[in-house]
Amino acid sequence: MIRKIVLLHNPVLKKKSAPIEKIDDAVRTLAADMFDTMYAANGIGLAAIQVGEPRRMFVADIPEITKEPMVFINPVIRESSKSKMVYEEGCLSIPGVKYKIGRPKKVVLEFLDLEGKKQEMELQDLFAICVQHEIDHLDGILFIERAGLKARKAINELLEEKDIKPYFKV
Ligand code: ZN
Repeated sequence: MIRKIVLLHNPVLKKKSAPIEKIDDAVRTLAADMFDTMYAANGIGLAAIQVGEPRRMFVADIPEITKEPMVFINPVIRESSKSKMVYEEGCLSIPGVKYKIGRPKKVVLEFLDLEGKKQEMELQDLFAICVQHEIDHLDGILFIERAGLKARKAINELLEEKDIKPYFKV
C-alpha cells in the first residue's frame, strides 16, 4: 500500500526514531508499504519516519548497486572512512530539491534484515551515501542540514523555486 510521504516543515521529520524490538507482522507490512511508496515516488531509499512511523528502519533499492530490494532494521554505522565523497543528494520529503553534500565515502554498516538476522556490510560511493542519508532521517536530520551554514541561503532559494517555504533563518 502506498503511504503518504511526510514533507519538509512537518515536525515529524525532526523526531528521533526508536529501535525496533520485535520483527512482527506490523514491521513486515510497514516494509512492504515503504517499498510501494518509494517505487511510486521513484526513490532509491526511504526511512520509516518519512511515512510517519518513528521506527529505526529504512528500505533501499539502488539500480545496478543493490542486488535486490533491501530492508535495514536498527542500522548502525560502525566505521566511516576519512575520505569524503561529494554527491548531489535529493530527498522524497523535499521533492525537486537537490544539493551537493560531502560525506564519508565508505562505511561499515551493521543492521538486522527482515528475518532478524544480523548483517554487516562494507559499502562505498552511492550506497554508502544513501545509508548515511537514511540513518540521518532516523535521528531527525535532513540532508539540507548537512550542507553547512554558507549554503543555507542558496537552499532556501531552491526551496522557494519549488514553492516550498524557506527552511533556514538566514
Ligand atoms: Zn531523505
